[in-house]
Amino acid sequence: MDLELLDRALAGEPAFRARQVWRWAANGARGYEEMTDLPAALRARLAETVPFSTLTLVREAHASDGTVKALFHTHDGRAVEAVLMRYRDGRRSVCVSSQSGCPLTCTFCATGSMKFGRNLTAYEILDQVLHFRRIEPLDHLVFMGMGEPLMNLDNVLEAARRLPDIGITHRRTGISTVGWVPGIKRLTETDMPLRLALSLHAPEDALRSQIMPINDRYPLAEVLAACEDHYARKRRQIFIEYVMLAGVNDGYAQAVQLARLLDPRIYKVNLIPYNPTDSIYEGSSRAAIDAFRAALEEHGLRATVRVTRGRDIDAACGQLAAKPESAMIRG
Ligand code: SAH
Repeated sequence: MDLELLDRALAGEPAFRARQVWRWAANGARGYEEMTDLPAALRARLAETVPFSTLTLVREAHASDGTVKALFHTHDGRAVEAVLMRYRDGRRSVCVSSQSGCPLTCTFCATGSMKFGRNLTAYEILDQVLHFRRIEPLDHLVFMGMGEPLMNLDNVLEAARRLPDIGITHRRTGISTVGWVPGIKRLTETDMPLRLALSLHAPEDALRSQIMPINDRYPLAEVLAACEDHYARKRRQIFIEYVMLAGVNDGYAQAVQLARLLDPRIYKVNLIPYNPTDSIYEGSSRAAIDAFRAALEEHGLRATVRVTRGRDIDAACGQLAAKPESAMIRG
């Protein structure tokens, strides 16, 4: 819901009306008609003047493990995707997009091969969350869908500020970045205790630049310095995401190099099994991932392997929006 449009539509009404409407929406209301403490005439007027969501659901896919992936369009026809992940321990985590498409060109990422659309507004980000909130209560969120959140930081922070109203605390909100240094610095300055995750994917510059061209602009030393400063100020561990690409970044020597590069007090590594896309890469085998993890731990760096969710519905980054219509699974 576009809350600025709502404010304009409520001009002349008591000031608490906007808060009232937002509270209903944040608690999973499905439409204005449910907002029973609003005068009926006002509900009817809002239904005509302020669209209940800034996004239109195009398609929803349900995986056998409970993962739900949604594809939306914005009012100007841009694709936006978001995923709800349900874990056995009861956690309900949403993965949202911050941009339609992405201006960066990481070579393994399906979104990177799409055309960049535009930054999403704070309301387009929140509407992805509200869509799933209408299904069930939520408690975690990550900015790991389409786009680079730190290139759209104003809108990302504005959305993050409202997440506690939906039930997601700042401590349970994670922002994942390619290492966009000016954004990391700004994030260090915010008052919100958000979790920072860095997509590293390689232990040295030459390989990292090959996998992620953005590394030429913000090389490793600069990115890690910004992260270390972030840790010094916030005292919150930083997650390193490391996508496992067979024969590219998954060797024993690379694990040792990675362990030397990262201070174990500051970083915790999450190894990500690669979700195959149309790229030149193949994912590392389970045995290679386990060996890499063992090598990291042997050298004092804590590492976990990400549980893959929603494989049968192409829930990997960029895969739903990038796929031709005919190949889609309909939910
Ligand atoms: N631009 C941000 C956030 C979006 S991508 C970033 O890069 O961090 C979220 C995570 O998904 C990143 O770690 C990215 O490297 C990873 N990712 C992208 N495509 C993937 C794929 N096909 N398989 C596994 N992980 C992928």
